[in-house]
Amino acid sequence: MSENFMKNKILVTGGAGYIGSHTCIALHEAGYDIVVYDNLSNSSREAINRVSTLIGETIEFVEGDIRDNELLREVFALHEFFGVIHFAGLKAVGESVVKPLLYYNNNVSGTITLLEVMSEYNVKNLVFSSSATVYGDPDTLPIEESSKRSCANPYGQSKLAVEYILEDLAVSDDSWNLISLRYFNPVGAHASGQIGEDPNDIPNNLMPYVSQVAIGKLEKLSIFGNDYSTIDGTGVRDFIHVTDLAQGHVAALDYLEQQTSSEIYSNTASPIGFLPINLGTGKGTSVLELISTFSDVSGQAIPYQFASRRAGDIASCYASSEKAKNLLGWQAELSIADMCKDTWHWQSMNPNGYTMS
Ligand code: NAD
Ligand code: UDP
Repeated sequence: MSENFMKNKILVTGGAGYIGSHTCIALHEAGYDIVVYDNLSNSSREAINRVSTLIGETIEFVEGDIRDNELLREVFALHEFFGVIHFAGLKAVGESVVKPLLYYNNNVSGTITLLEVMSEYNVKNLVFSSSATVYGDPDTLPIEESSKRSCANPYGQSKLAVEYILEDLAVSDDSWNLISLRYFNPVGAHASGQIGEDPNDIPNNLMPYVSQVAIGKLEKLSIFGNDYSTIDGTGVRDFIHVTDLAQGHVAALDYLEQQTSSEIYSNTASPIGFLPINLGTGKGTSVLELISTFSDVSGQAIPYQFASRRAGDIASCYASSEKAKNLLGWQAELSIADMCKDTWHWQSMNPNGYTMS
């Protein structure tokens, strides 16, 4: 990064969460100045404390809700932000089916409030946390960004709704630069073992479930379906290490900076507008393959049983990662073994997550 670009200030909404906390470290290492804004509805202050310890600096943290227009305005008035990385959102698919209004209010209305305040303060650069869930059940693999979008649950619909809003915004005013990063399956933890994924309840996702079985908190894993047309009958996903994902955000911000710097911008045919980019490894791994690798690296047995398919699940999902490579110069580096090793390290150092007991 050139000297001119050092220390641009970024607002990180949801920065106390799983992906946000890892990204804060990557942003700090890349020379960005950050302010974290989070209502701690699904995270804890301890995550912020640990990130501060890891980077050797106290993170500037505001406890607040993205739907709180007044507090957001205070924060924007106080700081000169280059842009926003917007992680804040609720993410539990099952809960979204039971509480759709909560999800639309938090994820969609919250994002609108954020965009309104950004507009008021003329901060027009945004990196949004989208998801591979916007592709629904894909027609072809690997999934390209131009694939059709459709999803069946309120969580996915809230991500899709925000993408449509961002697209309309970019059409309405070409000074907006809006990158929508569509994550595949983020897993793993920081190599230090100090920060990681800390589910509130019994995990819904595969990797945290497997690691809690490995440590003996849960008895056995139910594998949802062994009759898919995949390599071994179990579901196939594109697992991506959260550290690689964090680097993807740095690459997206660096790209925004380059494209919006006056010299390069004047030579660019069109502004960024709305730009969707997949963040995945491009490789599919089955549930059984993941369990086997986890067992190897942890030295723990992972008891499992086959159960019926989970409603709404698809057989296979993995990314085309070409666009991220070509535009952002980013690609995932870490292997499935690294993902399992770092998850296990975090889990065994913090059997109760951030709750110390
Ligand atoms: P997370 O729950 O750990 O982090 C989200 C953070 O946002 C939490 O710290 C939470 O307290 C905060 N938050 C929620 N609503 C808020 C509000 N109204 N105001 C302020 N803060 C609020 O989740 P994560 O796994 O780190 O996911 C980050 C983002 O990435 C989310 O938007 C999620 O939907 C998206 N995403 C996650 C995955 C995944 O598998 N983890 C996959 C695709 C997309
Ligand atoms: N899965 C499973 N048992 C579990 C959790 C998940 O067999 O307890 C399977 C699930 O059916 C899917 C894969 O693991 O095939 C990944 O599921 P996850 O919920 O982690 O991600 P998503 O389905 O949202 O991509």
